[in-house]
Amino acid sequence: MRIAVDRDLCEGVGMCESMAHNFFEVDDDEVMHVLDEQPAEEHRGQVAAAVASCPVQALSLVD
Ligand code: SF4
Repeated sequence: MRIAVDRDLCEGVGMCESMAHNFFEVDDDEVMHVLDEQPAEEHRGQVAAAVASCPVQALSLVD
């Protein structure tokens, strides 16, 4: 499982961070950083919820 980000879509809103702060972080310039691009399978539920929470569909999970 890998987290993919469409940088053209991401607006730094931070929903992903609030859903899964161990995996996503928005810095002071509203740039989002993926902290762990390949989460362990046990975190799929949390990461998938964060992906689904993005209001601009900038995130996806690639298996
Ligand atoms: S929720 Fe979406 S738009 Fe907001 S920081 Fe995360 S990826 Fe970017």
